[in-house]
Amino acid sequence: MNKYSAIKSTVLSNPIEYLKGVGPLRADLLKKELQIFTFGDLLHHYPYRHLDRTKVQVIAQINPAMEYVQVRGILLSMEIVGEKRARRLVAQLRDATGIIELTWFQGINWVEKALMIGQEYLAFGKPGFFLGKPQITHPELETLREANAAGKGFLEPIYPVTEKLKARGLNAKAIGKLMQQLFLVLEQKDIGEFLPQDLIEKEQLVSRWISLQHVHFPPSAEHHHRALQRLKFDEFFIAQLRMGMLRSSRHRFSRGQVFTTVGNHFNDFYHHHLPFPLTGAQKRVLKELRQDMGTGKQMNRLLQGDVGSGKTIVALMTMLIALDNGFQSAIMAPTEILARQHANQFMELLHPMGIRVALLTGSTRSAERKKILNDLLNGSISILVGTHALIEDVVQFKNLGLAVIDEQHKFGVAQRAKLWQKNTIPPHMLVMTATPIPRTLAMTAYGDLDYSVIDELPPGRTPVLTVHRLDDARPQVMDFIRSEIALGRQVYFIFPLIEESEKLQYEDLMRGYENVKAWFPEPQYWISMVHGRMPAEQKEINMQRFVNKDTQIMVSTTVIEVGVNVPNASVMVIESAEKFGLSQLHQLRGRVGRGAEKSYCILLSGSQVGKEAKDRLSVMCSTNDGFKIAEKDLELRGPGDIQGTRQSGALDFKLADIVKDRELLERTKLKAEALLETDPDLRKQENTALREFLQADKGGTVWGKIS
Ligand code: ADP
Ligand code: MG
Repeated sequence: MNKYSAIKSTVLSNPIEYLKGVGPLRADLLKKELQIFTFGDLLHHYPYRHLDRTKVQVIAQINPAMEYVQVRGILLSMEIVGEKRARRLVAQLRDATGIIELTWFQGINWVEKALMIGQEYLAFGKPGFFLGKPQITHPELETLREANAAGKGFLEPIYPVTEKLKARGLNAKAIGKLMQQLFLVLEQKDIGEFLPQDLIEKEQLVSRWISLQHVHFPPSAEHHHRALQRLKFDEFFIAQLRMGMLRSSRHRFSRGQVFTTVGNHFNDFYHHHLPFPLTGAQKRVLKELRQDMGTGKQMNRLLQGDVGSGKTIVALMTMLIALDNGFQSAIMAPTEILARQHANQFMELLHPMGIRVALLTGSTRSAERKKILNDLLNGSISILVGTHALIEDVVQFKNLGLAVIDEQHKFGVAQRAKLWQKNTIPPHMLVMTATPIPRTLAMTAYGDLDYSVIDELPPGRTPVLTVHRLDDARPQVMDFIRSEIALGRQVYFIFPLIEESEKLQYEDLMRGYENVKAWFPEPQYWISMVHGRMPAEQKEINMQRFVNKDTQIMVSTTVIEVGVNVPNASVMVIESAEKFGLSQLHQLRGRVGRGAEKSYCILLSGSQVGKEAKDRLSVMCSTNDGFKIAEKDLELRGPGDIQGTRQSGALDFKLADIVKDRELLERTKLKAEALLETDPDLRKQENTALREFLQADKGGTVWGKIS
């Protein structure tokens, strides 16, 4: 059912088969192919564009670049030519400037009977050229009188249809006819106005009734534009209201652990064990988190920060606050490598303070695992680091107060929800993103979460210099790498590994490894390798050799992508860089530039690279700013492809586009917030219609799907 169908009207909820011209067969098709079940659903099946039928071209000026033409002329001649499948009706239409040929392969007899030589016609269709002469196959043809009577001379809607619908005669034009039929039975009273009047006035919006008519049948481009503005406003505004209400109801009703104190552990760490001064942004975020966890409501917060902005230490210190209040914490990382690395870092920092940290992953041995589970229950472990192994039901805490999810996009919503259930009062939740998401996207995809951002990198970082090189520049690239290694630096070689063709890619990786080895032979050079198929233990050994500088080169797939931290590595070579997405490239690049040394990222590709891939590579070479890259990524790929948002369902807007209409998105967010500020439950008289609209559509896209 369509979520924008107004509630009160019975007409809009009429089954689609009741519309004149539909009937059971077509109804079936409309339901299956377009999910159109009711009059209301049809009403919200919007055209994807309009044809300007107000324009008439002259025949002499038709050119192959034109998508459609409409010409007006006298029918000169008609004849049936060809045999069998080539049998066709060919007619000639002449205006003052030239002649165009019109051809029919189907319905020949019928067309021949209907047309009259010497009559003036309006012909419309896609122009083609044969031996330099313009022609139209299967044009739409009307006499001038017919055209005038039908009130032609408007923008004709073109509707999205499927191949199957087309094959059954329900083409874009037929849908247009049904739409006209629909507007014969619809009346203004059927289309409820649900926005408060003063908002409509302030925003200078046209009424819903008018906008729905004009989005289909606009008298002019300007009318169409205004109709779109109104309907897009509604889409965003309603989504923002829902998010806002969800957020505030959580704030008001969901009980959370109350962290009242910032005590010894936190202060001791802050004053004596912190390895570096915090950045201003880190301090600000810690303050936001502290406040949030003190309210008595469950915290649900998204922490955004570019690669290397120092989210981990913020998570760690937040866990110390939990500990100060008598609670345990857990942090969940997407890969074993990353979980291990967090655990090592936490143990190193916290062991001197007598705080017990444990690591639980899929490869934890059963005896150790048993002990960990036991110690979690009796409370002697304060901080648990792990992979998704820690959400399993057998993992029970004495008193879990905070759950941190690192690199959010690797986890589904359901996994997040499982963490809630690990205490009777749900733990506070801190969700950290791997790479930044554009603000606009965060607003919609994670709109139910509160939002903190670390928008400052630790001092002393020099931006990574990124270049794009073709494969044939390999010798120079290798020379450069030798010179870096001679300076004591380390190097990553990254190969693509794509799940669908894992075997093939694995072979590629092995070939790549041999290749790298040929350039950098033992015993002068030592190489580590990690990839997804390797047993965890072996991965760890290879990682550790690289961390300890026993090897100068790390050959890896994207398993190295998230979080891994080896400050001495200063060069990253990305093989077949055109195969990676922007955010992935940025995430990979984040593995270098972590120390004080000048760092380099070399993107290798063949010379045959598509336009979009080229764009991606050039974006990488032009900026190091993760937020900018995220914006660009969104622009190039559209929101559907951004990692982790695909399943959220929060981005299904029919008309509005979170990239192109981002100003509107921001504005509607402010408007929705302002409205909820004065009337959180929409109890005021002027907001009644809005409340009823929202209630009528509880099962809509946004509610259920985001945790
Ligand atoms: P990310 O946000 O990508 O998870 P990390 O938390 O891994 O980043 O931090 C990246 C590196 O920066 C680590 O080596 C970390 O120790 C270091 N770091 C974090 N905060 C600071 C700071 N305030 N000053 C100096 N170095 C910092
Ligand atoms: Mg990290």
